[in-house]
Amino acid sequence: MLINLLTQLLATLPGHVYWKDLEGRYLGCNQKFVEILGLNSPQDIIGKTDFDFLSYEKAKLIQENDLQVITAKQELSFEEEGIGQQGDPAFYLTHKAPLYDEKDHIVGILGVTVNITVRKEAEKQLKFAKEKAELANKAKSDFLAVVSHELRTPLTAIIGLAEMLKAPSFSAEKKLEFTNHLINSSQHLLGIVNDILDFAQLEENKFQLIPCAFNLQELIKRVIGMLYTQAMQKGLSLSLLHYPSNLPKHLKADVKALSQILINLIGNAIKFTNTGSIDLIVQLHSTTPKHAAIQIIVADTGIGIPANKLDKIFERFEQVNQPQTRTVGGTGLGLAVTKKLVEMMGGTINVESVFSRGTRFTVNLLLEIA
Ligand code: ADP
Repeated sequence: MLINLLTQLLATLPGHVYWKDLEGRYLGCNQKFVEILGLNSPQDIIGKTDFDFLSYEKAKLIQENDLQVITAKQELSFEEEGIGQQGDPAFYLTHKAPLYDEKDHIVGILGVTVNITVRKEAEKQLKFAKEKAELANKAKSDFLAVVSHELRTPLTAIIGLAEMLKAPSFSAEKKLEFTNHLINSSQHLLGIVNDILDFAQLEENKFQLIPCAFNLQELIKRVIGMLYTQAMQKGLSLSLLHYPSNLPKHLKADVKALSQILINLIGNAIKFTNTGSIDLIVQLHSTTPKHAAIQIIVADTGIGIPANKLDKIFERFEQVNQPQTRTVGGTGLGLAVTKKLVEMMGGTINVESVFSRGTRFTVNLLLEIA
């Protein structure tokens, strides 16, 4: 009865059970243990050591563990990586204890190994979810810190300028100057609010692309028109340098998203260029009866971006720490929004730059021909 109970217990335990003599020779094990070794019956293992089944390094490691248990006369528990029954990666929890005879002499070791892969996976997923939540939380705090700082600067300027306009002591010429500063600060504020709203909308996946037929050349000219005064005020030339004559006249895309991409890239080019030009170049890569693969390049002769910062600038809140970035302000959201929009349109965006010589952003899009 007792033997039967023990046999059933060994077979039912949810792990591998084995016991060995002082030389590491197996004295017995349960059926689950032989199965993991690819054998049929516990009889196949008796008298053999781990060196008969495993690699030398692995068997040596097990031998050292066993010896530790025997010499210290102490139980030992550890987790280890291994291979599952289907040859897949698995995690095991092993517990080893000294094996005593009736006279209390150590005659070997008794081991139990349990597959804990499911638990480990759950732990990994939990850790991943926790890290993700922490990152999201940090991003939110960073966002609030940047936003409040960026909003406060132009707002303070606007209030100060409005106060000065009220004062009777200033000349008409001075008042005109204040009015121009007031308009600039308000536009700057509007730009920031737009960045924030776009970003928030994209983050919540609320932004839906609505493709419609449009003329790309006209759209580019319209955007240039919007930003022309801004470039002129800095003495910069802003022009569409090249537009392929064979580019299909009507394409299909979300016009608002495409305009936003261009406004962000040209706006940055103006912001970070002190002398020279901002050129737009459109190239037709290839066409099929239904699609046109195009490239829109925005190239400036501005302050450039250091090579080690190039892969960072598309990340949210990333601003290259240059004196000009600090003085012109910004949220560090424009390029994150731009990249997301380009990707939503199925395209790619990349940047090349030579520090203090200029920067070139290239947007690759495959657009439907309307
Ligand atoms: P910001 O609101 O700071 O302009 P962006 O996401 O649009 O945020 O740009 C991120 C950073 O990339 C900028 O702060 C600037 O350091 C750098 N950058 C973007 N465009 C240019 C450019 N054309 N020339 C030089 N640096 C640029």
